[in-house]
Amino acid sequence: MKKTILATFLVSTLLLGGCAQTTSGGLSGNRSQLMLVSEAEVNAQADKAYTEVLTDAKNRGVLNVNKKQYQRVNNIAKKLIKVAPEFRADCANWDWEVNVLTEDTVNAWCMAGGKIAVYTGIIESLNLTDDELAVVIGHEMAHALKEHTREQASQAMLKQGAMQIASIFGASNTAVSLGGILADVGLMLPFSREHEAEADAVGLELIYKAGYDVDAGANVWRKMQQLNANEPMEILSTHPSSSDRIANLEKMAQDLKTFGKVQG
Ligand SMILES: [Zn+2]
Repeated sequence: MKKTILATFLVSTLLLGGCAQTTSGGLSGNRSQLMLVSEAEVNAQADKAYTEVLTDAKNRGVLNVNKKQYQRVNNIAKKLIKVAPEFRADCANWDWEVNVLTEDTVNAWCMAGGKIAVYTGIIESLNLTDDELAVVIGHEMAHALKEHTREQASQAMLKQGAMQIASIFGASNTAVSLGGILADVGLMLPFSREHEAEADAVGLELIYKAGYDVDAGANVWRKMQQLNANEPMEILSTHPSSSDRIANLEKMAQDLKTFGKVQG
């Protein structure tokens, strides 16, 4: 009896988190997402990680020291941030921040809540044009707008919860700990193929709305494919690429140019 009550409690707790739709105004990726972790909890964890990365970069003298690249990245990011509320109105109130790290690392990210970082390594290795740089930033912003990290954490929590319910009935003792799940999911774990495809679509639509050339989408990944043969790229560890990605980006670009939106 006691076990049944506890299991019911756990199931209710997990289900109460419920579903949410993170974006509504954009044309791509508006779907119901399972959210068991609050946006505030994820943002708090992201802020902590963000502060650590920034402090470390500052101590090493690589944070926003390249004024020319900083201005370039900031100008592009600003244009994208300006159109982002078309996807979700509340992000107009986000505390967006843009950073350039002077490092050879081929990477870029946008943490939950709008904290953007671009490494000079990705700009220089891929010799990115402004349109291509907009693709990279737009893609990363799309992960944050869609709250993919929160969704990942929620999926992990669901899995852990199911394990704990199983444990009540005899299996090993596994605790559902939000702190542990957020630490496990972290902020730099690989996104799923679904999240990648969605970030490509939302990101491309974002740059389209900001007036950039959508053909740059496929170009960026073509360049990455070529470069990857010669050197490992950090960005590919968190953004697993698939062979059909370039073809999908080409089709999305065609859709945007023809219909003004990505077709389903
Ligand atoms: Zn991605």
